[in-house]
Amino acid sequence: MPPTLAQRLLDGDRRALARAITLVEDDRPEGWELVREVYPHTGRAAVYGFTGPPGVGKSTLIGALTRARREAGRSVGVLSIDPSSPFTQGALLGDRIRLTEHFLDRGVFIRSMANRGALGGLSEAALQAALLLDAAGREDVFVETVGVGQAEIDIIDHADTIVLVLMPGSGDSIQALKAGIMEIPDIIVINKADHPLTDTMVREIRGVLSLANVNGNDTQTTAPSGAHPGGGSHTSSFSSGPQPGGEKHPRWRVPIVKTEAAHGRGVPELVEQLDAHRAHILDEGTLQERRGRNLRNEVLAIATARMRRRLEGELREDADFARLLDEVIERRLDPASAATALLERHRG
Ligand code: GDP
Repeated sequence: MPPTLAQRLLDGDRRALARAITLVEDDRPEGWELVREVYPHTGRAAVYGFTGPPGVGKSTLIGALTRARREAGRSVGVLSIDPSSPFTQGALLGDRIRLTEHFLDRGVFIRSMANRGALGGLSEAALQAALLLDAAGREDVFVETVGVGQAEIDIIDHADTIVLVLMPGSGDSIQALKAGIMEIPDIIVINKADHPLTDTMVREIRGVLSLANVNGNDTQTTAPSGAHPGGGSHTSSFSSGPQPGGEKHPRWRVPIVKTEAAHGRGVPELVEQLDAHRAHILDEGTLQERRGRNLRNEVLAIATARMRRRLEGELREDADFARLLDEVIERRLDPASAATALLERHRG
């Protein structure tokens, strides 16, 4: 008997992996079944989420990190999620081109996903895809999404380490951070650090971190470990909370890493910070905590999506509901009371 798709996937077969991701992307029942089968084998991959405005250099950075991970002998999976342009070739094609040097490497699996309007939406499909990469034995999974605050795709929350990538001039993102629309990430990268406004940006971010009360007074700037001809690349760290002397579990210090992804500068420092964050969450037990919280959200998200779909299906031809809606439209009943009436009726 030929091996099943699940067996081939668990063996790391790339074609099985590609097929499996297509199944979940298309919201096919076989896809969900496959995830169910291989799920006990997941949880081993280190998942890094990269978010930030388009054009800041996320793909270039992931390309550079992929190179570094491959040099360290690790297998890599890359998921590039782009909900904004499913029909234009734009960013999707661009991402692919920037990662071309890795296409022939069997240790690297790259996949772009766009919105399919599936059951749970793109985020669910992306999460399933990340699980499949994990099951297929990818040691490092890089997930890339476009995030500018409000339109954030919550797949990024499922990463073990969240990296926000900015470039000098990404003022909107700083505003989003400041306003609390965007959560404080684990690591902040300022790419295109050859730009003269880089240090201004670092200062602004420091300000936001202190406003958000994630950095103590002991801000610290460390010299780069990697060679940098211009001498300008360095990492600044900020503690993620006040650190009274005797605290047993030191909080994570959100580092600001300056990179020039296109030239590989600052990449060794970023690798160092990725590793440091991983070590931190493993040591502190926060990885388990984080995953527990994310999985809870995931279960609720899928359940909510299914309930909504079920409800919409049931109400499509429902004359009582149509009458209720008419009342709302005619301003005789407010939307909240209509919802209460609807739920009362559906309870039985
Ligand atoms: P993404 O949309 O965030 O994934 O950004 P890309 O990785 O597609 O990069 C956008 C553009 O910025 C590309 O033309 C890259 O070559 C360029 N780029 C990436 N990193 C750097 C850098 O460090 N310095 C400069 N000047 N350009 C860069």
